[in-house]
Amino acid sequence: MSVSGNLARVRKEIADSAIAANRSPDAVRLVAVSKKVGLSRIQEAADAGQRIFGENYVQEAREKIEALADRGLSWHMIGRLQSNKARIAVSMFDLIHSVDSIKLANAIDAAAARISKVQDILIQVNVAGEASKAGIDVDTAADVLAAATSLPHIRAIGLMTMPPFFDDPQKARPIFAQLHDLMQRLNARKIGDCPLTELSMGMSGDMTAAVAEGATFVRVGTAIFGERR
Ligand SMILES: *Cc1c(COP(=O)(O)O)cnc(C)c1O
Repeated sequence: MSVSGNLARVRKEIADSAIAANRSPDAVRLVAVSKKVGLSRIQEAADAGQRIFGENYVQEAREKIEALADRGLSWHMIGRLQSNKARIAVSMFDLIHSVDSIKLANAIDAAAARISKVQDILIQVNVAGEASKAGIDVDTAADVLAAATSLPHIRAIGLMTMPPFFDDPQKARPIFAQLHDLMQRLNARKIGDCPLTELSMGMSGDMTAAVAEGATFVRVGTAIFGERR
């Protein structure tokens, strides 16, 4: 399948799932995850109308962003970010999905202040509490959000999660529901000055389950670009 054909199919699956959940398809934005994908296939996706691309590695992203600078694309950081890479990340990404510590939030704030930017971020939550996964646990999310909210050059707009791998993607649904529930509880506690609105959840294998539970960003790589080598 071509990249454009894959994109069309992914978009339709997302829209169908949104409609089935009584949501507007426009409420779900597709992040095309282009880690380890070459420029020509990213260009194919851009030619097919894809605007948001997700990258995991700062250096790899930098080369692509420079090469495609005239395409008007939006780049999101979805991988683990080290504090010492905050400066370069802030210079490249419209949204950082993977803020998982107060230390990283502080580093992003300082980096954003240097270029007079307010950096949009999501707080990554390890809902299932897996030892191998990045993200803060549910109980400390309020603390990290409160810390982020006190920083003038960061705007926390939502939450992100990566569920454990399940053979049956429907098994991830309770995890997505828990992230949605956590966002509502944080908003009810009025931590911060604006309510959180974004839920980054769902990948190639479980995007329809995530949309059913309220995802506003889905991060899809393999279903668009094929298996990564
Ligand atoms: C690689 C990656 C994805 C995309 O995964 P696919 O299964 O290829 O769709 C989504 N989110 C994160 C954080 C990733 O690292």
